[in-house]
Amino acid sequence: MISAPQCPTNFVMQLVTEDKKDGKYWYHRAYYYDAEGKRQKESFRCKKEHSKKCNGKYGETHYCKAYKAAEDRLKNLAHATKTQSLNLESLTKAERVEWSQASELAKKIGISMSQIIQIAEMHKGPLKPIRLPEAIDLFIEGKVAAKLRPSTIKGYKTNLNRLQLKFRQKHLHELHPSELQTWISGLTLAPKTHNDTLATCSTMWQWFKDRQYSVGPDNPFGKGVTRQETDEDYIDTLTIDDSKKVLEAAVEDPYIAGIVVLQMFWGVRVEEAQKILRKWIKEEHPMVTVPSHIAKLRKARYNQANISDDWKPQMMTNAKAVPPNAIAWLKYVLNKDYTYGKGKRQKKCVGCFWNVNASTYRNHKLKTLSMINGRKNVLRHTFCTMHIHAFGNMEHTSMIAGNSVEELDASYNEPVPEDIAFEYWDIMPPVEKENPLRIRQRVIEMAVT
Ligand SMILES: [Zn+2]
Repeated sequence: MISAPQCPTNFVMQLVTEDKKDGKYWYHRAYYYDAEGKRQKESFRCKKEHSKKCNGKYGETHYCKAYKAAEDRLKNLAHATKTQSLNLESLTKAERVEWSQASELAKKIGISMSQIIQIAEMHKGPLKPIRLPEAIDLFIEGKVAAKLRPSTIKGYKTNLNRLQLKFRQKHLHELHPSELQTWISGLTLAPKTHNDTLATCSTMWQWFKDRQYSVGPDNPFGKGVTRQETDEDYIDTLTIDDSKKVLEAAVEDPYIAGIVVLQMFWGVRVEEAQKILRKWIKEEHPMVTVPSHIAKLRKARYNQANISDDWKPQMMTNAKAVPPNAIAWLKYVLNKDYTYGKGKRQKKCVGCFWNVNASTYRNHKLKTLSMINGRKNVLRHTFCTMHIHAFGNMEHTSMIAGNSVEELDASYNEPVPEDIAFEYWDIMPPVEKENPLRIRQRVIEMAVT
């Protein structure tokens, strides 16, 4: 049922007799609040000489038809409010006209008004269909409020503008995959741009769906519109030999050693690893904390390492942890002797650096790890791939890596033989020759097994 026009908290009705400021007429006016809480006024012109004396009681000297009409109007409104039912009398004049037009139209197309109300109920949510330009503005506003990076928002705007140029007049729910296919194919975009544009549109549709707008049952930017093949569809991972070469070189450079180890074995993103502080790394009960304020998805992670001898079967069942070699590598770079700087400024220290500036990390990585230049995110991809395929539990991997199961499932579905994945988790740091005392007993034990 549609509820009657009312203002639930402040339903004030008033009958006022007043003259029109610039004219000679007097009016009896019904004031009330409508369904949206707006104050409404309906005027009934008085034809009596002494308008202020008018009343609505038939038979009395000052009985006035107009006054009676205003009074009845308010009575009807009050009744409709009480019964909460749809009452034509409760509508404003404009609404009544609208209602009868709608009713006529419904008759013509063979749907009853009650069916129309049912359809409206299905579409309820806070809002109705939304037009494209308005949708784009709201979506961008929402993303700005969510504090996304300016570059991301700029990308969204560019992508959505392509859509708006073609479908400015349409509502979001009116878009159909076939016309979207024609539109996007006609743009002759580079494969990556083609896919990014569809991805942004799809994200926007889902955003409104989540907020209960009426955008239709299925995402028109989904599988009905083809994506193009790009290099990015292929997830680049390191082989076991390459992993060893990368580690061998990385641990020698104190600026990148710790960050590379966190990426390769602890499921930490590069942006996160650069901001990790030494105090967030615990050696005794091995754990690396990625606090929420540096985590990409603003959700803290407490990644532990399994250090039992019998870790492999445990990883398969329920341990949300990384294998023992993760802590072995971390201890290795935490205890290693480093020399850094050039010439007279050369300095020595024990343990690699933490909280490294992003550009410093990038410069050192370009030099020290030149063998993986241009291979974007290859360290993280290697971690995710090897963790999933060794332990076969997407949920655990997603907990550690801090991404969604869906994202993992979509990205890391290239099969990697289980034994190769396990080989990765068996890569151990070298046993330091010059200073064997520095290496903890446990590390040696692990290296031997
Ligand atoms: Zn009157």
